[in-house]
Amino acid sequence: MKIGIIGGGASGIMAAIIAADSGAEVTILEKKDRIGKKILATGNGKCNFTNKIVEKDDYISQKEGIYQNYISQFDEKRVLHFFAEQGMLAKEKSGYFYPRSEQASTVLDVLRKKLQEKGVTVLTESCPDSLKRQGEGFVVRLGKKTLFFHHLILACGSFAGEKLQEGISGYDYAQKFGHTLVPVVPALVQLRADHDREVFKAIAGVRCEAKITLYIEGKMRARERGELQLTDYGISGIPVFQLSRHAAYGFHTQKKVKASIDFLPEYDDGEWEGLIREKWEGFNPQALTEDFFLGFLNKKLNLHFIRKAGLKPQQPMGNYSYEQILQACLQMKNWEVELTGTNPFASAQVCAGGVSMDEVTLQLESRKVKGLFFAGEILDVDGRCGGYNLQWAWTSGYIAGKAAAERRLPSV
Ligand SMILES: Cc1cc2nc3c(=O)[nH]c(=O)nc-3n(C[C@H](O)[C@H](O)[C@H](O)COP(=O)(O)OP(=O)(O)OC[C@H]3O[C@@H](n4cnc5c(N)ncnc54)[C@H](O)[C@@H]3O)c2cc1C
Repeated sequence: MKIGIIGGGASGIMAAIIAADSGAEVTILEKKDRIGKKILATGNGKCNFTNKIVEKDDYISQKEGIYQNYISQFDEKRVLHFFAEQGMLAKEKSGYFYPRSEQASTVLDVLRKKLQEKGVTVLTESCPDSLKRQGEGFVVRLGKKTLFFHHLILACGSFAGEKLQEGISGYDYAQKFGHTLVPVVPALVQLRADHDREVFKAIAGVRCEAKITLYIEGKMRARERGELQLTDYGISGIPVFQLSRHAAYGFHTQKKVKASIDFLPEYDDGEWEGLIREKWEGFNPQALTEDFFLGFLNKKLNLHFIRKAGLKPQQPMGNYSYEQILQACLQMKNWEVELTGTNPFASAQVCAGGVSMDEVTLQLESRKVKGLFFAGEILDVDGRCGGYNLQWAWTSGYIAGKAAAERRLPSV
């Protein structure tokens, strides 16, 4: 049984190892000069390869049941076991798992060693010109060469993190085979607020705990809390990444996308108002306005909210009414920002959308072309930040590799 895997990333490598383990003769075709390049960039070079707790809400797809139907076939415990079996120690930090070495290259080295051990052929700088059905198998055209495989696994990843979109994408191959795509948008990516560039320039560099609520056409879509990073073009940080796929679909459908930022999520509105009143009552009216705000937020943010309310930081407090001060402080719990877009695919960690999960079986085999399988991000599945996307790559690679190798060839 000959299996061709197009794409030598996390999912393609896992698929190759599992298929070879089941006795198949496996070839990986990778368009870059090395396999697994993206793995090296993950987790800031440390590779957050799975999470301690993987649950159904950690994945989104147009099709429901990703966790129950797929992840559960090769879950986080099995991933940890797989890497432990290869001799790789792991360490956990707030639920995120990394190799003990804290080097993403360890993960890749372990996988490459396994490929070698299993006799998998790896062809780099190999981007097929075409993939075609021939009889019950597939013909892959690669320049002047023609390769034949009984089964094919498409594991070409997405546009995320790629500076240049070189060659043919996995989406192109999938569409040529008659598959439809759920619109592909950047996800786990920064959000831009281009109408407020001046404001953002003034507060850029601030990192703080915040709760961010995302509204699409005025309707609450999602909410996240965590460390927000303010940049000169907009907002970033893990909570923003988690919200970004919803925002991206909002932009994709030309809807109005807005964020409300609460810089004091640990206080409810009543508590916050009580605190302001207390401070106001004991405050010297001769003192400067900026001194009243001292101790609330980062200085850059305090100044932003003072000015936004039309107050002057250097004026005595006595120049303003309680109502005016209160309004400035209440804004800190509900700063509305109009979002204008995401950063481009090159800045995204993953893509949302891809080959529709309605068009594949539980074994990730195409419902349109027998013997064609899919693995990884090319499919319409995206996970949260925290090791969930690599978990999906390992899981889907495992499922596709195993199914492709075990699928019986038609008798002649
Ligand atoms: C900066 C960054 C940091 C990340 N950090 C994390 C993290 O810490 N934890 C986590 O879980 N996830 C992380 N991710 C996401 C994770 O890396 C991906 O979800 C995962 O690598 C997807 O695996 P894949 O096999 O589907 O695709 P990829 O790993 O992208 O592999 C696809 C491969 O196919 C090749 N290819 C494409 N087209 C062709 C073609 N026509 N012919 C031949 N080869 C082709 C590509 O060159 C590539 O090598 C991060 C992503 C980025 C960009």
